Amino acid sequence: MNDALQPDALSIHRTLVTLDTHIDIPWPTGPDPFQDSTRKVDLPKMLRGGLTAGCFVAYVPQTTRTPGSEDAAYSRALAMLDHINRMARTQSAIPVRLAARADEIEAARRAGAIGIVPCVENGFAVGADLSRIAAFRARGAVYMTLTHNGHNALADSCTPRRDLGDRGNEHGGLSMLGKAAIAAMNRAGMLVDVAHASRDSMVQAADESRSPVVSTHSCISALCDHSRNMADWQLDVIRDVKGVIQITAVSAFLKANAKPEEVTVADFADHIDHAVKRIGIDHVGISSDFDGGGGISDWNDAGQCPNITIELVRRGYDRGALEKLWGGNFLRVMRVAEGLAG
Ligand SMILES: [Zn+2]
Repeated sequence: MNDALQPDALSIHRTLVTLDTHIDIPWPTGPDPFQDSTRKVDLPKMLRGGLTAGCFVAYVPQTTRTPGSEDAAYSRALAMLDHINRMARTQSAIPVRLAARADEIEAARRAGAIGIVPCVENGFAVGADLSRIAAFRARGAVYMTLTHNGHNALADSCTPRRDLGDRGNEHGGLSMLGKAAIAAMNRAGMLVDVAHASRDSMVQAADESRSPVVSTHSCISALCDHSRNMADWQLDVIRDVKGVIQITAVSAFLKANAKPEEVTVADFADHIDHAVKRIGIDHVGISSDFDGGGGISDWNDAGQCPNITIELVRRGYDRGALEKLWGGNFLRVMRVAEGLAG
């Protein structure tokens, strides 16, 4: 690495809105997020790493589908969103604030506060009651993944759960309810997240949604063949609908048969490069999936975010490109979704 580039990369990094679009939270108990801990993300690490905002997810594991389990999933999602909102209201030496709109993420950055962005992972929590989507948005949720691992009432997952009785292709993509859920998400001003969705679900969601679909944490199939990654033709779909793929730091998605400590920011940047070459700088972004499976040798916690910028600067990405990758593109699609609300 050319050390002469590092101060420049660091100075650029410190001026950017930097948004990590997928971070898990400990649930139901965990350490104080305002103290340094063994977690990959806490507020001190975000501050050290110059990470100005993070999407914190209310994640609901997929279980057998019954009205009771769907109600329990909904209760859990609400409780987790309330917890994320309490974190965003906490008074501490590290200023934080709730950031549920693109403008609020930028305003937090200007005010020197870390933006806390609530999100939902797994449309299982919707059950058959689409009014729940507005309740999520009322708690600030900016996106919801249609699925997690396992099919649900809305859509097929890219990872069927045989243990839950999933067949390969239950709905053939989206169900009728899933299409109605996407319309409800559009009305609520929420982004439709196709991470974890099957390929049929993904392409149908891109077609159904009036706002551009996003994948908040996926990588590139051409570089690493994994069911969670996107084929080049899927990248083209993302570009065609003006959406964004947020390349993520999950080692198994970045490099086949490698341990997390064997995967580096150079591997991560290879996936960024591929996506940018294929669909352009306006449709690619950055996420960690920290505390949910993410973490590689030299981006293993939020304190190490500058290593990503240093690697990208070394590869020739300028300030404008870094601004787009580190959040500008995601803010753009948030604004489109917000503009369609109502
Ligand atoms: Zn996930």
